[in-house]
Amino acid sequence: MTFKENARLDTGQVRGGGGGRRGGGGGLAAGGGIGGIIVLVLYLLFGGSLGGGGTGSSGSPWNFGASEVSTSGEGVSEDFSHCQTGADANEHQDCRVIGTVNSVQAFWTSAWSQYQPAQTVIFSGTVQTGCGTANSQVGPFYCPLDSQVYIDVSFFDQLEQMGGDGGSLSQMYVVAHEYGHHVQNLNGVLGRAQQDPQGPESGAVRVELQADCYAGVWVAHADGTRLGQEDTAILEPITQDQIQSALSAAEAVGDDRIQEQMQGRVTPENWTHGSSEQRQKWFLTGYETGDPNQCNTFAAEDLG
Ligand SMILES: [Zn+2]
Repeated sequence: MTFKENARLDTGQVRGGGGGRRGGGGGLAAGGGIGGIIVLVLYLLFGGSLGGGGTGSSGSPWNFGASEVSTSGEGVSEDFSHCQTGADANEHQDCRVIGTVNSVQAFWTSAWSQYQPAQTVIFSGTVQTGCGTANSQVGPFYCPLDSQVYIDVSFFDQLEQMGGDGGSLSQMYVVAHEYGHHVQNLNGVLGRAQQDPQGPESGAVRVELQADCYAGVWVAHADGTRLGQEDTAILEPITQDQIQSALSAAEAVGDDRIQEQMQGRVTPENWTHGSSEQRQKWFLTGYETGDPNQCNTFAAEDLG
């Protein structure tokens, strides 16, 4: 999806984080310090892991061992001064995240009176969160304990390697999915994933598919979102090609697809996010109806 060139971005909805200096010193799992396994309660984009390390072997998708905490690293600049306009969002990935956060939150604020804004932390490497120390290998995630979304934009390259088509909406879908978890945190649904964490019909899968549906709902309304007192929308109307981008991302992060790649076989009993087909189906349900009430995956007998 394309931002209007002159749209003004609100960088106050994000902050930078991560990297060695911020992440390594005095944290929960500082190198040479306490170390060990930190149990995180994170809501991820997908149930796998990017490369070695990073995930625990307990079998639970939410228990991640912060096995390697970097004490060096680039860090992410806290300076988003290059992200002023829609043109910047069209050009730079971090600015696109900011513009997407702006639009997604503008939508939920107008659609739901109880919506409370949540910040996104754009980090690199390792980051301290209210849920413990996390690293980029877990992919984008939401921490319900500090109500913040965490994104390392280097993930977008990984997403392409996983089968995403690299289009702008494939990236924006990721941001909108994580904000779907924030909505679930606010309306009390999120905990159902913890109570029933695995399996093709599990609470976890229903939570994740609902977040995909919420992402689709935002897409349906995205070109109408505007910031603050501005009277023009910040996004251009969507195109069918862009919808295909979002679908390619939803397909890439399906449990069956990832299991096929990581373990060579599909084991639905371990699903935490739903299949590629289900994730696309629920994204489309949100997009085609534009109605969050149609995202009741908990009432659905057939998840797709
Ligand atoms: Zn998720």
